[in-house]
Amino acid sequence: MSSTYVTVAIPYVNADPHLGYAYELVLADIYARSRRAAGDKVRFLGGTDDYSLKNVLAAETAGQPTGQFVNQAAARFQALTEPLGLSFDDYIRTSTDPRHRPAVHRIWQAAAGSGDLYQRHYEGDYCVGCEQFYDPSELEDGHCPEHRAATERVTEENWFFRLSRFQDYLDELISSDRLVIRPEPFRREALAFIRAGLEDISVSRSIERARGWGIPVPDDPAQVIYVWFDALTNYISALDFGDPQSGDYQQWWLDADHRIHVIGKGILRFHAIYWPAFLASAGQPPPTRIQVHPYLTIDGHKISKSQGTTINPTELIDTYGVDALRWFFARDVNNTVDTDFTTDRMTARANDELANSIGNAANRLVTLAHRYLAATVAAQPPLPELTDLPQQVTDAITHFDLRAAAHLIAHAATTLNTHISATEPWTIAKDPTRHTELSELLGTHLASARHIATALTPVLPDLATRLHHQLGHPNQPLPQPEPVYKRIT
Ligand SMILES: [Zn+2]
Repeated sequence: MSSTYVTVAIPYVNADPHLGYAYELVLADIYARSRRAAGDKVRFLGGTDDYSLKNVLAAETAGQPTGQFVNQAAARFQALTEPLGLSFDDYIRTSTDPRHRPAVHRIWQAAAGSGDLYQRHYEGDYCVGCEQFYDPSELEDGHCPEHRAATERVTEENWFFRLSRFQDYLDELISSDRLVIRPEPFRREALAFIRAGLEDISVSRSIERARGWGIPVPDDPAQVIYVWFDALTNYISALDFGDPQSGDYQQWWLDADHRIHVIGKGILRFHAIYWPAFLASAGQPPPTRIQVHPYLTIDGHKISKSQGTTINPTELIDTYGVDALRWFFARDVNNTVDTDFTTDRMTARANDELANSIGNAANRLVTLAHRYLAATVAAQPPLPELTDLPQQVTDAITHFDLRAAAHLIAHAATTLNTHISATEPWTIAKDPTRHTELSELLGTHLASARHIATALTPVLPDLATRLHHQLGHPNQPLPQPEPVYKRIT
């Protein structure tokens, strides 16, 4: 039995959660559920990044004290857990969780003890949206390449981290796949960034520029710790890093077989380069895998809080149901390039595959069993071509290939429906001498449908639960046929 620690990025809470982040949550949740079902010990962490300067600015705009604003905003993110069906084992908020600040101070002090922190006067172009300095060569007409917003000229005395010292370490770590970064284009992107040469980075800011919001630098109250240094540490502060009273860090980081961060492509540099370097400086092992996803666009436009092109995931679920949204995420979102979301595409998929194919197969079979076999059908193996379905789906999810997993499930449902139609159980039922044949046939079909429900469980836990209930157990009376998935109209 292996053990797996899986995390999602903790978002700034300056605006409401958007659909792209909901995708990340579901991607990681499907992985976590699948590993648990495969028998792994799993710990799945979510949280919010409270100390972003962006949060401070949003609070100022809203005319609220930062702490109060952040509490309300963070609650809206945590409130996604139930509607999206997320199976978090733990959730961390960086400004309120008592585990966080001591762990940030411990990793800071460990890096200082390694000689990797020093003070330096600095001047640079800072994007508040990204919370990072950009080299002038990276700017596009003086604007941040990620946000297209003007950067801010910052001059101050800061603490620096000796990132340059880790260039060879990071190159070897990633090129050897000791730290797996997938999909492959993102691995190449990380290596290209490293090979272009790593410069030391500022890891603190003045308490004035931070508006007093942040974790103070140990022994330097005029500075707060750079929000990314603070935020990345959430992955191990949630494991009580450095707390001798707790065994969580030992169990879920040092001893875990898999330490996996699921992130969006925009924050690859922080996770693939800064974070393993911070850990190495503190004498700690890196994550084992960084799984990167591209973005969703909505009706062809980049999702942007500032431009108002957002869809509230909770409202979407209220209208269309969680199964339809999770199915779109699994079935249609591309692993390497941005995917356009439209409610029409989501609805068409759900009606076509969840209602007409999977739901209809279950309904037909249970109806036939009630009509011809007094609702009780003996156990049979599934169709031979579906025998390996649950394992194949597990394998695809293990590689974070949700589209392959969902395709296998959709294809299996088509196979089953085709087989039902071709074998015509209703015709066999008219001949009393073929009763055994009918019982075996429907037994095979029901076992196949249960296999589909099992394969579907990590992807659509709600629908899978209804399917399993509808399909009952061999040799026991089946419940009355009821639609397991109602068409979206
Ligand atoms: Zn930016």
